[in-house]
Amino acid sequence: MSRVAIVTGAARGIGAAVAQRLAQDGNAVAVVDLDEAACSGTVQAITDAGGKAIAVGADVSKSDQVAAAVERVAAELGAPTILVNNAGVLRDNLLFKMSEDDWDTVMSVHLKGSFLMSKACQAHMVEAGYGRMVFLSSTSALGNRGQANYASAKAGLQGLAKTLAIELGKFGITANAIAPGFIETDMTAATAARVGVDFEEFKKATAATIPVQRTGKPEDIAAAASFFCSEEAGFVSGQVLYVAGGPRN
Ligand code: NAP
Repeated sequence: MSRVAIVTGAARGIGAAVAQRLAQDGNAVAVVDLDEAACSGTVQAITDAGGKAIAVGADVSKSDQVAAAVERVAAELGAPTILVNNAGVLRDNLLFKMSEDDWDTVMSVHLKGSFLMSKACQAHMVEAGYGRMVFLSSTSALGNRGQANYASAKAGLQGLAKTLAIELGKFGITANAIAPGFIETDMTAATAARVGVDFEEFKKATAATIPVQRTGKPEDIAAAASFFCSEEAGFVSGQVLYVAGGPRN
């Protein structure tokens, strides 16, 4: 059945792949990102493939922008009953060098952004008696040097997914988290640049530490999101799926 999906941070990377996959699955997709114009590539890829999509500019950490974005999606595509909370930023640093702003920015985008989006969408999902929420966590939730802010936010998202699974299950809504390992995107390329290593070398060295001996692609995460967002996954809720080529990496 065709549903309306919102994917945040979908201008590029994992979000773009998830948006395209959910469109392939037959859903109309709202491609949400900070800059509406930056969403045009993802929207074009979906429409070129025969799917339906719109670009929506919004900062997920701002409640007024989230409310306006969700209202626009409901008016232009219909009630959103699939939500993938994917928007994210990095502000890595060791604790003694991490600024309050680094902490607040990461918490605002990942955690508060997911809270605001979930709250705005749940009204539509409860009314429909159906919903699928997915939260992008990370293997960093298990702890990662230089990521006190990010690891805390990603662990928090697992708690949010489990709690919403408990609260919203009776309305036909599931909530699950995906915890990716190393995925080849601008985000990991930026990490390589920050530590001064060529991205290809960085990928090669990382792949050697991963049980399946390769780094991940955005499509690996899109496949997991597709399952959690499917109608047939209705009995799978409050779960955290590590998609990392092994138990963690
Ligand atoms: P990415 O390439 O950096 O893409 C993230 C997208 O989110 C960007 O388009 C960015 O927009 C957007 N965004 C940032 N702040 C936003 C805000 N306040 N409101 C709306 N959109 C915002 O990252 P990615 O690698 O695809 O990661 C996607 C998600 O997976 C993130 O939550 C990340 O933490 C998680 N993850 C990634 C990896 C990995 O290895 N790549 C591993 C584990 C988890 P701008 O370009 O305008 O900043």
